[in-house]
Amino acid sequence: MKGIIIKGIGGFYYVKSEDKIYECKARGIFRKDKHKPYVGDYVEITIDENEKGAIEEIYPRKNILIRPPISNITQNIVVSAVVQPAINLHFVNNILVYSEHLDIKNVLCFNKSELINEEQKEEIKEHFINTNYKILFTSVKEQTGLHELKDMLRGNINVFSGASGVGKSSLLNSLMPQNKAETGEISSKIERGKHTTRHVELFELEENTFIADTPGFSNINGAQEIELEELMDSFPEFSDLLGQCKFNSCVHDREPDCVIKEAVENRKIASSRYSSYIEMLHSIKATKKY
Ligand code: GDP
Repeated sequence: MKGIIIKGIGGFYYVKSEDKIYECKARGIFRKDKHKPYVGDYVEITIDENEKGAIEEIYPRKNILIRPPISNITQNIVVSAVVQPAINLHFVNNILVYSEHLDIKNVLCFNKSELINEEQKEEIKEHFINTNYKILFTSVKEQTGLHELKDMLRGNINVFSGASGVGKSSLLNSLMPQNKAETGEISSKIERGKHTTRHVELFELEENTFIADTPGFSNINGAQEIELEELMDSFPEFSDLLGQCKFNSCVHDREPDCVIKEAVENRKIASSRYSSYIEMLHSIKATKKY
């Protein structure tokens, strides 16, 4: 029967199948480190007469995130505050690009929204003009925007990402009250202890809707992973314009007659997004020595 691994601990994998959760062991090759199953893997299992399962097969993965180790993520909820802490647009853009690279949908969630006014909300939206990213404003403190967020999660395997202190654990806790995601002081300890092994668990919010209980995508350096050609494809607001520059090889940096730069001037592309693009471009060039 088919199922999804929602937890792996002490050599056992907990596989949610249509009817229930089975404790499973990995078989043969899947016990080897290189072939180890990931939380998020869709697997084929067999069940013995004692209701114990064995993983027989792992279905092809859509993607893999290494930290925390999880596969088949379909949606990334990029959490940021606008103030306290002040938004770091480049950090947010880096996460967005990296998810695009992994073929993961992005949703922008601005938490602590009770601390900002309507004008600040509009300014935030301007930074993501023409990206088509869904933008939500939430406040865990005042319990607003949470239903909308919950609606956005439906049908996906979701991971929450973003800088420290923006409210990821608080959001996770309000979405899954019985969960033990730690907030505040303790979560900053977890952030610091990033390199110790953490185990991740998928929490089933409703049928076919999962949330990883551990935030992901921190400490990413997209430049190490992404190829130059892929970078411009990772900015959705560039997509209609690509191929229209004077030079075919235009990377939208110093070249003349570049439609991307023109769009920045006409405010069809946010200058903050373009700056992030240029910073990533230079970083990729430095890393890959083009
Ligand atoms: P994380 O590091 O992203 O997991 O952030 P935490 O969930 O640990 O939250 C960091 C701090 O922000 C904690 O003191 C939370 O109580 C606080 N916090 C979380 N959500 C909100 C909110 O909506 N408004 C305000 N003002 N503070 C919040």
